[in-house]
Amino acid sequence: MTVKRDYYEILGVSRNASESDIKGSYRKLAMKYHPDKNPGDKEAEEKFKEASEAYQVLSDPQKRGIYDQYGHQGLEGSGFSGFGGFEDIFSSFGDIFEDFFGFSSGRRSRGRGQRGADLRCDITLSFMEAAFGKETEINVEKTEVCPECKGTACELGTQPETCRHCGGSGQISRTQGFFTVRTACPHCRGRGQSVTHPCSNCRGAGRVRINKRVAVKIPAGVDTESRLRLTGEGEAGTYGGPPGDLYVFIHTETHDFFERDNTDVITRIPVSFIQAALGDKITVPTLTGEKILEIPKGTQPGDIFRFQGEGIPSLRNGNRGDQIIQMIIKTPTNLSKKQEALLKEFAALESGKLTTRLKNMFKGDSAKAAR
Ligand SMILES: [Zn+2]
Ligand SMILES: [Zn+2]
Repeated sequence: MTVKRDYYEILGVSRNASESDIKGSYRKLAMKYHPDKNPGDKEAEEKFKEASEAYQVLSDPQKRGIYDQYGHQGLEGSGFSGFGGFEDIFSSFGDIFEDFFGFSSGRRSRGRGQRGADLRCDITLSFMEAAFGKETEINVEKTEVCPECKGTACELGTQPETCRHCGGSGQISRTQGFFTVRTACPHCRGRGQSVTHPCSNCRGAGRVRINKRVAVKIPAGVDTESRLRLTGEGEAGTYGGPPGDLYVFIHTETHDFFERDNTDVITRIPVSFIQAALGDKITVPTLTGEKILEIPKGTQPGDIFRFQGEGIPSLRNGNRGDQIIQMIIKTPTNLSKKQEALLKEFAALESGKLTTRLKNMFKGDSAKAAR
């Protein structure tokens, strides 16, 4: 495991810094270490990445909460993995950089490569698969950078030419009344280059459609509404732009015995009123097998028992919740003559007890009244 610096320390803010303190501090660092200002400077690059990662966590109340409570490990447990490179940072923070620097995404202001679109797929898991995680593969139909031309769109051995219409700037000026309006060149679509010999594999698109089997590792404890992000598994970018991401939306099925309440599992177990009255040892199914539960004498309908740590692992830290066992007490039906007779005898005893108790109560009352 790599040792990481504290995010608050990286940004130079206190642990209770406000959102705007955090943003302000990141702005300063991002300006200072921006790769366009420090070309080829490895140390600046690291600083820029580090600050961006710290900002990504501390500017998100949910991630910040996890980090405050569980530190770097907690974030890893929740699937957070920081950034791969600059493109990743710029594509996550596009809006913020526009805010900071007055232009979009620093590097891609030249209007050439564009990030690929994000994709979504839905996956249905059984109750148990969601509880314990699963490694699976999904079939994704998407575009990928053309393996022949590596995305340049040019036939092998040829090069794109500078666009004659815009002189390579990607923009053309048009005069409208008193104003000069600059728009993307329609001939090269803003790229500044035109392809004279298009790649035959992708017909000059630079991308090809493929079917890809994507491996997905679903962590234990996911639930309906959980969403996984597979970085870079979306549509290919155009002309060197980074790929989009693939979002996997999780749906979970219900179970015959188990019901889920966050990380707790609820089970309703029927017992006879005899077992409830006399106490008994009963067998209860758990997520990992059967377990014996001892119910005491005089167990009441709705009474709750708990198997600690037999629930579902938390996505956050892997700790398992509890299994909650609720008693359902069954009244017997189809009694035999003998059983009925015994119950009547039991009832007579009960009412005898009751009359004595009532008598004693009244006696007490009249004694009080007489005083
Ligand atoms: Zn052009
Ligand atoms: Zn191609």
